[in-house]
Amino acid sequence: MGEQDAGRLVDGLRRTFDSGRTRPIAWRQRQLSRLDELLKDHEDVFLAALGSDLGKAPTESFVTEVAFLRSELAHARRNLRRWLRPRRVPVPAVAMPARASTVLEPLGVALIIAPWNYPLMLALSPLIGALAAGDAVIVKPSELAPDTSRAIADLLPRYLDPEAVAVVEGGVDETTALLAQRFDTIFYTGSGRVGRIVMEAAAKHLTPVTLELGGKSPAYVDDAVDLRVVARRLVWGKFIAAGQTCVAPDYIMASPATARRLAPLLADAVAEQYGTAIGDNSDYARIVDERQFDRLVSLLDDGTVASGGRHDRTRLFIEPTVLTGVAPDSAVMHQEIFGPILPVVEVTDADDAIARITAGDKPLALYVFSDDAETRRRFVTRTSSGAIVFDAAVIHLSVPGLPFGGVGASGMGGYHGRRSVEVFSHEKALLSKPLTPDTLALLRPPYTAKRIAIVRALLGR
Ligand code: NAD
Repeated sequence: MGEQDAGRLVDGLRRTFDSGRTRPIAWRQRQLSRLDELLKDHEDVFLAALGSDLGKAPTESFVTEVAFLRSELAHARRNLRRWLRPRRVPVPAVAMPARASTVLEPLGVALIIAPWNYPLMLALSPLIGALAAGDAVIVKPSELAPDTSRAIADLLPRYLDPEAVAVVEGGVDETTALLAQRFDTIFYTGSGRVGRIVMEAAAKHLTPVTLELGGKSPAYVDDAVDLRVVARRLVWGKFIAAGQTCVAPDYIMASPATARRLAPLLADAVAEQYGTAIGDNSDYARIVDERQFDRLVSLLDDGTVASGGRHDRTRLFIEPTVLTGVAPDSAVMHQEIFGPILPVVEVTDADDAIARITAGDKPLALYVFSDDAETRRRFVTRTSSGAIVFDAAVIHLSVPGLPFGGVGASGMGGYHGRRSVEVFSHEKALLSKPLTPDTLALLRPPYTAKRIAIVRALLGR
């Protein structure tokens, strides 16, 4: 797709939007229910595509992609009417009598650009928000998950209103052509590098952006917690999707004594969850491509392999690996790992961990395993991150009432639940004032002493 084709596509969608077709709640509800039918009818197609793109086990894909989307859909369908109701806001004395409220109005034509790691969920979860908001929309799935991209492109137009929803497949060229167009909002999920390209392109048209980015999400483990349970939870959060999860715990910080006890327990938890012949275990995902594989294997040299470490380029397999003895200035401690390598780093105490976190980019997620209320409080008040989760990893994504998004380098704007509708909407201010009594006379000149006294009394100043 070149720029002209992209322009024609956006023009067509804008005509649909301007016609008002996407605004009625009935249209929105219909699209959401059709999207749910699509996922139900073709679950096998998507699970197979995710298997061939990323070697994900059907159960893992079902839980983290299909079921996740279907519960988001159910939540949106159940609550949409309520979310769209005008929200009354109080009117101060100076403007009385009047009624004030806000209403969510659709922004127009949206562009959604998705990454490869959860290629179905991260393309369609924002789409739920765009449809619920009443926008026309283009979805651009990731070219690095080609089978999932193809399935989305094949199926979406068969279920959703083709005049209002389009799928554009492709990579950099196609995305660049799209980004040259004027959209009313852009929702991007992926790396900060491309996030900057997206934001720059959006700035030319003053288009608002939501950026769902990544970075290093640290975990801190206190001395006084049940390390066996902690190890199980960290191993699940880290090695699901072979570590290619934006909120995967990137590295662990613990005191030297706790780090020494934790490392073998992580190995035990890996064995519990994936067995010992992990190369043959279909429950364990593969690395997306050779480029990522080579990058990850080079990181294995940045520390001592405490467990795991085996890899096979022909099968894009890297064993769940625990690294110890990593130098603070090594690559593995600077780039987002985004793969199945888990460094355990020794820190003196919680304050040392906090100092290291605040010295780096603001994380997308921060995991703290501690029963101590004061330690928890210090992490909450002295660090900044998209989310902070105590005694668990990754699971916060399943709570639709919690905003999912980053801060600083990990992104801007949160979604899920009602917020998914909000990011694709404008919250319009609405005020209605009766013509009589003509109270505004008080605010108009001439500013007599009497008027000033009344206005001051009304303002309470
Ligand atoms: P990416 O930025 O390489 O690609 C994402 C999308 O951008 C793809 O659709 C791709 O086609 C497009 N793209 C790539 N290069 C482009 C260019 N030069 N111009 C325009 N478009 C371009 O990201 P990725 O490697 O697919 O994803 C990995 C990153 O995404 C990690 O940092 C991860 O943490 C982050 N991530 C964040 C979330 C989140 O929800 N916050 C979720 C998943 C991944």
